[in-house]
Amino acid sequence: MKKVKTSLKGRTCKYPHCKQVLSVYNHEEYCNIHLGRPEPRQKSHK
Ligand SMILES: [Zn+2]
Repeated sequence: MKKVKTSLKGRTCKYPHCKQVLSVYNHEEYCNIHLGRPEPRQKSHK
């Protein structure tokens, strides 16, 4: 049986206020949405 390296269960995205739970197969600290996007575009209403 092949062992698949997985990350801890129940980790959440480290992006502020993001409650997205990361997959155990996602070894990154951010969810797919915030991965590689430190600052997502936000439509600001003025
Ligand atoms: Zn996120």
